[in-house]
Amino acid sequence: MYKQTWRLITESQHIVLISHINPDGDALGSSLALYPLLKDMGKTVSIVNVTTPLPIRYDFLPNFTKIKQSMPLKCDLIISFDCGSYDRLGIKKHHCPLINIDHHKTNTNYGDINLIDSTKASASSVVLKLLEQNDIALRRDVATCIYTALAEDTGFFSFENVNATVFEDAAKLIAAKANPGFIAQQLKERNSLAKIRLTGIVINQLELINDAKIAYAILTLEDFKKSGALRSDSDECVDLIRSIVTVELAILLIEESDGYKISLRSKAQIDVSDIALAYGGGGHKRAAGFTAKTKETNTIIQNILNEATI
Ligand code: 5GP
Ligand code: MN
Repeated sequence: MYKQTWRLITESQHIVLISHINPDGDALGSSLALYPLLKDMGKTVSIVNVTTPLPIRYDFLPNFTKIKQSMPLKCDLIISFDCGSYDRLGIKKHHCPLINIDHHKTNTNYGDINLIDSTKASASSVVLKLLEQNDIALRRDVATCIYTALAEDTGFFSFENVNATVFEDAAKLIAAKANPGFIAQQLKERNSLAKIRLTGIVINQLELINDAKIAYAILTLEDFKKSGALRSDSDECVDLIRSIVTVELAILLIEESDGYKISLRSKAQIDVSDIALAYGGGGHKRAAGFTAKTKETNTIIQNILNEATI
């Protein structure tokens, strides 16, 4: 499959690299990793993410400024990264082959080729394997993107998905001149004051139930307005909620124009991807999400609690 994937890439001329809406480091890092390689092969490459604005904290990734918010009129191959279901790409139906590169166990296999390995900690680790299996040498710009993605999806090498392979991959990327200190500094030491204020709002509004095993918070559009924070500034709030000693299940509801985006995290027992799947979303065992097209927050929370057995 890894060889077949690369063959299709080499046979295609205009290639779109696309990742999921509200992208994280894995989505952007995985897609940006292939950009310079394909350019050097003489391809026309469009790198796409339909989210506006893009989270600025990833601006240090090589070629970040090349990301476009819409699809080109024509292309002959689409490669999607870190995206478990087609709707999360935020684009209409397409008329060319699609390679789906991912690591979500809930992936719906929407590609013509589905290069999915749910044992991998990040989609970028699948990209790394694709390069290795096809004897493509690593270089600093590519390694920086793949490392950033791997670091983020492993909580900087601290989550349950960390294993020896993760560190072996990280070592290969560092050998190819990815700079761990620089990357960590870019992602962890450049918070805006608005983001910290938003975190304060989350903590103030936190509700603890079931002997404090479950914690949830609701962020409204008004909260974003009054703190001056951007949507992407809420990305780490749910991890912070989970970090409370008693908490097994952390729930964050983020208001959108037509409903809520729900982020779920668990510590050791609950498979939150099951909960997310039940409501049309997806994800991993310890991190998952879904969208609810309703503003009835009590119903949303009750539905989650009905699926969660603690
Ligand atoms: P987050 O809570 O950070 O948005 O997402 C946690 C994990 O669940 C990520 O791996 C993300 O890709 C996945 N995820 C979040 N929302 C959705 C969704 O609506 N559908 C699917 N398929 N996956 C989601
Ligand atoms: Mn990922």
